[in-house]
Amino acid sequence: MTTRCVEVALAVPLFRTFTYSVPDGIATPIPIGTRVLVPFRARNEIGIVMGASAPPEGVTLKALHAVLDATPSLPGPLLETGQWIAEWYAAPIGLTLRAMLPTSLMSPNAKPSAEKRQRVVRIMREMPSLLEREQMFARAKQQRVVYELLDAQGGRAALETVRQQSGCSAAVIAALAKRGLVEVRDERIERDPFAERAGVAPPPTPSAAQRDAVNAILAGAPGQSFLLHGITGSGKTLVYIEVLRAILAQPQKTAIVLVPEIALTSQTVDRFRGAFGDDVAVLHSGLSDGERHDAWQALRRGERRIAVGARSALFAPLEYVGVVIVDEEHESSYKQSETPRYHAREAAMVRARAEGAIVVLGSATPSLESWERANRGQSIRLTLPGRAAGAQLPDVSVVDLRTIVRQAVAARTPNAPFDETLGVLSPVLSAAIEARLTRGEQSLLLLNRRGYASYMQCFSCGDVRVCPHCSISLTYHRVPESLVCHYCQHQEAPGTRCHTCGEDALRRKGMGTQQVERLVAERFPSARIARMDVDTTSGKWAHTAILDRVGAGEIDILLGTQMIAKGLDFPNVTLVGVIDADTGLNLPDFRASERTFQLLSQVAGRAGRGRKHGEVFIQTRLPTHHAVRHALTHDYVTFVHEELGQRRTPIYPPFVSVANIIMSGTDQGETAQAMLAASAWIQRLLARDSLRDVVLVGPAPAPIDRIKDRWRWHVLLKATRAGALTRVVRYIAERCPVPKRADLRLVVDRDPVSLL
Ligand code: ADP
Ligand code: ZN
Repeated sequence: MTTRCVEVALAVPLFRTFTYSVPDGIATPIPIGTRVLVPFRARNEIGIVMGASAPPEGVTLKALHAVLDATPSLPGPLLETGQWIAEWYAAPIGLTLRAMLPTSLMSPNAKPSAEKRQRVVRIMREMPSLLEREQMFARAKQQRVVYELLDAQGGRAALETVRQQSGCSAAVIAALAKRGLVEVRDERIERDPFAERAGVAPPPTPSAAQRDAVNAILAGAPGQSFLLHGITGSGKTLVYIEVLRAILAQPQKTAIVLVPEIALTSQTVDRFRGAFGDDVAVLHSGLSDGERHDAWQALRRGERRIAVGARSALFAPLEYVGVVIVDEEHESSYKQSETPRYHAREAAMVRARAEGAIVVLGSATPSLESWERANRGQSIRLTLPGRAAGAQLPDVSVVDLRTIVRQAVAARTPNAPFDETLGVLSPVLSAAIEARLTRGEQSLLLLNRRGYASYMQCFSCGDVRVCPHCSISLTYHRVPESLVCHYCQHQEAPGTRCHTCGEDALRRKGMGTQQVERLVAERFPSARIARMDVDTTSGKWAHTAILDRVGAGEIDILLGTQMIAKGLDFPNVTLVGVIDADTGLNLPDFRASERTFQLLSQVAGRAGRGRKHGEVFIQTRLPTHHAVRHALTHDYVTFVHEELGQRRTPIYPPFVSVANIIMSGTDQGETAQAMLAASAWIQRLLARDSLRDVVLVGPAPAPIDRIKDRWRWHVLLKATRAGALTRVVRYIAERCPVPKRADLRLVVDRDPVSLL
């Protein structure tokens, strides 16, 4: 009698599967995609059945313990998607499949966690005016630190977080509570806000342009992909909704909707829930393991037919998927930054093909990859050229900061101090904000740099204070006061003495969102201001809380980093000001221009979305840069044409497929040497005939050559034939020798979204 065997994928960093025998009493064949419990290295592990196999000769196999699923946890098309991800991104299959399932299903001892209760501090008395705060806390500096911290987090935060981040004692918080300014109580901190959000108005009737787009999409053959290029405010969401409505009207059909970040797109998510109610499962990072487990099961059992969520919602266990929608497809948050390093947009197309579903990629500023794919006829481009409901695109003007400063210098009386704030709030922008305040309209101000000052520099020797663990300058934060590394969160007291020359000459340079907030508050004392950046949104639902306040008209000026550029739709926002358009233009990354154009166009697109006309001011020192110039005229097509031209020499995506190979280690010399050796190894590999069109660039230190105490070197691989690169990265990930010294690690990042 022959032994019955199965191949099982286990969540270990190895490029192989494991063979187990199937004991009597377990029916075969076990369907692929089924979870099984197996003995592995003196433990029990959960693995995924990848197929039957012939028993190897002369080896005694371990037997699997149990079959855990009645129906496969990973149905065919999902498993196929996983296999594609593992191959394309050179990731071990077991780790890839594990990433596709909720934790509760993959760890043998997991018990879905109960809801967490926590001591929470919340603001009881709002003080939007900075001046009121100055008075209130004139003699209570510590209380102010706590208050500002809470305010920055949307008005509430865990007691523990507040104490840690403020460095203040419990007595300070108690004193605040005694004054009635805050309250401390037991609360469930990570409650699910989507469970308790108010209903949304039913969607409007589609316009002719929206109807045409919907009809074109519905006429698509199974597996067809569409690029929906609709300008900001053109009503792409309604197109998605109408497509879903038609697909879900067919028996059994289901749908997946991907959004870049749930917390930032609560408005969009609300619209889907408004249209489809309980048919929608919202998958987001705020869910506890237990809630995630429940949401997953509900989709698996077909109780909910639409999965809405960020990147990993692509792995929703739905069957008969009829359509996959990727909203704001250009967003880099669709790329996962750890193994498996997949891009959800690319994987969405693979899953759709496996399901026989249609894919819709939507954006006002499509990625060059998607645009070029449409140029080549691999997807169908659809255009929404005008704003919905008769709204007009805003007027965009450039404010040349060089001239502003030059004029101000020329006009100033001798010996008068120079007004540094002119380069932050230019006179035109200032006047425009003032006008909005008078008319009761809202303004958005974008500065893509958080903290108070960008860095601290010694005026005596010029030294810039950098992180002791990373090659990155430390950012000065005012509340709580510290120097912070934005890569590893290292914090230190600012001080004024230079670490290099010892002079008492450290000064703050460059401006961050905290400082702009202060400046705006001083210039417009009556304005109600909110700031939205990583520091104000560390609470899971802080974003949603801030945005809801904007929507309710409780905020006059919303200031923030790129977060405020993402999909917000507030009809009363009629002014957008970009404080400094140049922050991202000089990064050593081939996507710097593309990113900047997208950011400027997207944030500009937040203005004038209702009946009132919008106005945008872009402050820059590079007014002739093509990313700035074409954002002024909302001219994506001309921008993309120019930008594609620049990607030809040297050649970059979308004309080649690239992979970034990064060696990192704790010793600088060892890391460099290991990368040189790896690079030589790769060169020998590339000498083979079939791999000749894969080109290696480098090795070189990474632009940020040290992060979290690890030195970093890299090489870039470019290939005109993607298939050749797939083979190369697989070889590298699997076989490239990495010395066991200095904690050396080799990472393969295919289709990287950042080369820093
Ligand atoms: P986009 O995502 O393309 O930037 P949205 O989907 O947010 O645009 O739509 C912009 C605004 O226009 C929303 O407030 C939406 O409710 C409204 N809108 C969209 N389509 C219509 C329509 N056919 N009639 C009236 N209002 C519409
Ligand atoms: Zn650091």
